[in-house]
Formats: sequence, C-alpha cells, structure tokens
Amino acid sequence: RSYGTEGAGGLSERTLIAVKPDGVQRRLVGQIIQRFEKRGFKLVGLKMLKAPEELLSQHYHDLSKKPFYPSLLRYMGSGPLVVMVWEGYNVVSTSRKMVGDTNPAEAPPGSIRGDFSIHISRNVVHASDSLDGAQREIQLWFNCKELTDWDCHDQSSTFHL
Ligand code: GDP
Ligand code: MG
Repeated sequence: RSYGTEGAGGLSERTLIAVKPDGVQRRLVGQIIQRFEKRGFKLVGLKMLKAPEELLSQHYHDLSKKPFYPSLLRYMGSGPLVVMVWEGYNVVSTSRKMVGDTNPAEAPPGSIRGDFSIHISRNVVHASDSLDGAQREIQLWFNCKELTDWDCHDQSSTFHL
C-alpha cells in the first residue's frame, strides 16, 4: 500500500507568511495569525520590521520587470511588516488557499484577501507560492537562530519534562 500524500514527509514543511503594511496599519495582525493557528499550523518564527529596499528587491526579484514593481516596492516599504514562518503538513499550498488569489476581486470570501481587501495593490498578506520559493524566502528574511523548533505538550516524547 502506498501512503502517498499521507506520508510524514510534508509534516515539517515551512512557508513564509507576511502581513503587509496595510494589514499592520489596519490592525489585522492578530486575526491573520489566528487563522493559521486555528487551521493547525505551528508558528516557528515571527518578527516585525520595516524592510530595507534591498531586501524587498531580493524578495520580489522575479517581478522586477513588471510595470507595477516600483509601486510594489514603495507599498511594501511604506510601513512595518510582520513576517512569520509557519510549519505543518502541506503548509505551502494550504496557506496559498487560505490567503486567496493575488487579486482580491478574485479571492473567494473566507480567504484572507477575500475577506479583508478589495484591490490588488493593497492585498494585506504575502504567502510563498512553492516549496522552493518558501525555502528561498525563509532564508532571506530569517537567520536560523530566529527559527524555533518546539514540540507539543501532548506528545509522549515530552511527557516527562
Ligand atoms: P502573490 O504571490 O499572490 O502575492 O502575487 P505575485 O507574486 O504575482 O505578486 C506579488 C505582489 O505584487 C502581489 O501580492 C501584489 O501586492 C503585487 N501585484 C501583483 N500584480 C499586481 C498588479 O497587477 N498591480 C499592482 N499594483 N500590484 C500587483
Ligand atoms: Mg508571489
């Protein structure tokens, strides 16, 4: 029997989620964190920062030829971000669904963008779009000392602390 996607391989998958400046300014940080906690993902890294332009240009290097790129960098640098690493089974693809389409007009109600935003230039949140992208972005935004492995108190391996 093949265990397919039920295998444990994806359990420690990680992705980068960021609350963008409009999300921070609109006091949405708590609600966004709550959605990932409620879903069952594990927070392993979190920080607030006003991102330097150099970091933003590396983060969005694949979009540098797009007409909206200069305004995208201005938007992302217009205030602090809350950048997080979330871990769990299939977290990269599930969190993209939780975030919703890039254009909030297309994002389904119930998704973060579908519930909290109306325009593509102010879409509240970032989520890595692939495993490779997630790995690249996590390395870009966090050093390894800022990421914390932890176990649940209800796992037998931690019963005898
Ligand atoms: P994402 O992965 O869903 O965030 O989308 P992309 O990686 O394609 O684009 C990155 C970000 O650039 C989006 O989240 C938007 O903030 C912004 N963006 C993308 N397309 C457009 C556009 O056509 N116009 C504007 N103003 N911003 C855009
Ligand atoms: Mg993207």
